[in-house]
Formats: sequence, structure tokens, C-alpha cells
Amino acid sequence: QDMQLEGKVAIVTGASAGIGTATAKALAEGGAKLLLVARREDRLKALQQEIGVGTQILSIDLAEHAAAQSVLDHAEKTFGTVDILVNNAGILRTSHHDDFDLAELDRMIAINYSAVVRSSIIAARLMKARGTGQIVNISSIGAGIAAAGTGVYGGLKAALERFTEVLRVELAGSGVRVGIVAPGTTSTEIFSEMKAKGEPGWDEYIPAMQPEEIARAVRFMCEQTGNANAARLHIYATSET
Ligand code: NDP
Repeated sequence: QDMQLEGKVAIVTGASAGIGTATAKALAEGGAKLLLVARREDRLKALQQEIGVGTQILSIDLAEHAAAQSVLDHAEKTFGTVDILVNNAGILRTSHHDDFDLAELDRMIAINYSAVVRSSIIAARLMKARGTGQIVNISSIGAGIAAAGTGVYGGLKAALERFTEVLRVELAGSGVRVGIVAPGTTSTEIFSEMKAKGEPGWDEYIPAMQPEEIARAVRFMCEQTGNANAARLHIYATSET
């Protein structure tokens, strides 16, 4: 494929695993320069080696209030600009009312919602001032369905979708594109906590997708040109309804 993202600077959060790792590789294949963000530095270093020269890493806990600003500052300082922000980092805890650990609630809000909103707003201001940019927020099939055990996770993704849609509307005509990629069930480590507790991961119920399939959609969103904005992409497994 051609290098439609040549020279662009892209931040990918949650780059140490799953969809984030695949997205970082896909954007790099398109020619983008990457800032890889997550907590596990060893994983980020390995990916940095694999992608090659020019790739930067930042090991940070996005649950911290100041993290979003630090991520944007790091990219600006290192590369001088930010063209693409992929807010992919996220955690999954099932939240059936019978057994949900309420101590997990604030952390889920911090990572899956607040961190994404903060970095979206900070990036939106920078990008609007430059008249160009792309923000991609990763939602979930769970945002649109009422399935037992997904109340907190799906509720936060639904809130994130509404926030993202409104941001897109606010940025209309500014040159900044904003979009949502909502994956269905994808085989990643997101289900490992469930599996460790002896519950089946959702990727065991159906033939799940691979992270590369979601990454392709993110790349497609980032490659829009002219007056086109891929505002919402739902990538579901073929057996999902
Ligand atoms: P993984 O569990 O494989 O990866 C999650 C990533 O998020 C890791 O890189 C992890 O890095 C990072 N992360 C988690 N917590 C933090 C934190 N506090 N600070 C910084 N980074 C953090 O998940 P997936 O790849 O499956 O999920 C990626 C996104 O896709 C999520 O937003 C998820 O909700 C969404 N999604 C996934 C689906 C699926 O079926 N897999 C379906 C629908 C949506 P580290 O631990 O090193 O910090």
C-alpha cells in the first residue's frame, strides 16, 4: 500500500498490547511517525525496536489526571506537532450488580472515559489552531447493546461516543477530523482478567476478530482526504448481531 500517512505524527495509547499494538504497526506502515503510550515500558521498547527509527515511547498511567497533558506535551516536544491521536487504551471489568467490585468504578471511569476526554480536548485545541488533525476514539460494540455484566463498560463507551460526536460537530469546518471506531469481539488480552477468574472470555463464545482487522479500520479513518471524514466505523465479527 502507498504511504498516505508519510510525515504524519501519530500518538497511539494502549500501544503495548492488542488493538493498540496492531494500530501502531498499521500507521507506521502507512508512513506515520509514532509516539507509543502505555504503562508497560518493556513492551513499548520491544515495539519501538520492531517499528524502527523515529519511534518514541512514553510509559505513563493514563488514570493520572496530568497524564493526558503529559502525552500531548511529549509528542509536541519530540516531534514538534501532532497530526493523529488514537485514544485506544482501555480496560474491561464486568460489572454485573451481583458481584461488581465497586472499588473498580473510579478506575474504569478514569481510564475509559476521563483520560480520553482530556486528551481529546487538549488535542482538539492544538489541532484546531493548526487547522488540521485527526482524533480517533475507540469505542465498543458494548456502547450500543444492553448485555448483562456490561453496564459500566458499555455505559462509559456510550458516553464516550456522545462526547466524541459532539466534538466532531464542534470542530466541523476546522480541518480537524474526529471519528469513532467501535470494534466487536476481538481476541486480545482484554479478556485475560476474566479468564484468570475462571470465566470464559467473550472471544471464546464466537469466532473473534484479530487486532489487525480493527487496526485496518483505524488506518482507513486516518487516511481520509478532501472533504471526507470517516465519522463512525463499526467493525463487528461476522457472527455478531
Ligand atoms: P488490551 O487489554 O489487549 O490492551 C489494552 C491497552 O491499554 C494496553 O496497551 C494497556 O497497556 C493499555 N492501558 C490499560 N490501562 C492503562 C493505563 N492505566 N494507562 C495506560 N495504558 C493503559 O485491550 P484491547 O486491545 O482489546 O483494547 C483496546 C481498546 O479496544 C479498548 O479501549 C477496548 O475497550 C476496546 N475494545 C476492545 C474489544 C475487544 O474485544 N478486545 C471490543 C471492543 C472495544 P498497559 O497495561 O501496558 O498500561
